[in-house]
Amino acid sequence: MSKQLLEFQEHLVKSKKIVALVGAGLSVSSGLPTYQGSQGLWKNFNMIDLATPDAFYIDPGLVWQFYSWRRYGALKAKPNRGHYALSKLSQLEGVEYITITQNVDGLSTRSNHKRETLLEIHGSLFNLKCTGFICNFIDYDNFKNPLTKALQDTEYEYDKQNRKRPIDGIDENVNVSPQFLPVKQLSEKELPQCPVCDDGTLLRPGVVWFGESLPLQLLTKIDNFIESGNSVDLILVIGTSGTVYPANSYVDRIKLKGGKVAIFNTDIEDDILQGKVADTWGFKGDAAELLPLALKPLIGDV
Ligand SMILES: [Zn+2]
Repeated sequence: MSKQLLEFQEHLVKSKKIVALVGAGLSVSSGLPTYQGSQGLWKNFNMIDLATPDAFYIDPGLVWQFYSWRRYGALKAKPNRGHYALSKLSQLEGVEYITITQNVDGLSTRSNHKRETLLEIHGSLFNLKCTGFICNFIDYDNFKNPLTKALQDTEYEYDKQNRKRPIDGIDENVNVSPQFLPVKQLSEKELPQCPVCDDGTLLRPGVVWFGESLPLQLLTKIDNFIESGNSVDLILVIGTSGTVYPANSYVDRIKLKGGKVAIFNTDIEDDILQGKVADTWGFKGDAAELLPLALKPLIGDV
């Protein structure tokens, strides 16, 4: 066992307040694509046409077919051992804990992560949100598939040359159109509608779209967790570079108050790996394999 791992585990078992900051890297070994990088989702699709409020206003049928396809992909994927390790951590007695996740794939929820301590700051593919101005209706953790009769079969992207093509993640070798090709034209009547508004107001995917702000209520909850009561002993940075706001600010603030940092990622700076950065450990590799091993002294076997 490496010196870094031993040091980390010594600190881990003494920690009474822990934060995990989770990014796309955790879900990679469940078969889901990351957002940036060579296999990134937004390299293959035009986000402006699919993941903005304007896109939904212009063509809700197209946007719902795109999200229907993404929901299906996420439903086919299974939570991995990394998700289950964090789930066990969330259920521990005597440790204050939150998971801040940037993932929208619902895999943490499906690993039985304690719901109150799972903060999905980019929303979830499985939340449905009313588009009405004064309506606050949100249907949380709706794993139904298809969501409406008309959305059946739209899980597949229609490709003119290859006919219908089921998609298992994104295959780089397939020449994917930069535009998502809808299977069919859908009228608003055929899309999910708000049960509260009662006038056909559409529900939209409950994810944070480009150009939208992160949910204030969750950010406040995170701020309170970090700033109130005991200081955070440890932040686990998992499958994310942690360099994008607000993720980067959490690491800095926790360090400033004496907390330590452990990074689990396929890409880590050499200085960190060599133990040259104070109060920071780096474990390079697949988070799904590393987490159960590293957290074992606290959570037991996964
Ligand atoms: Zn409504």
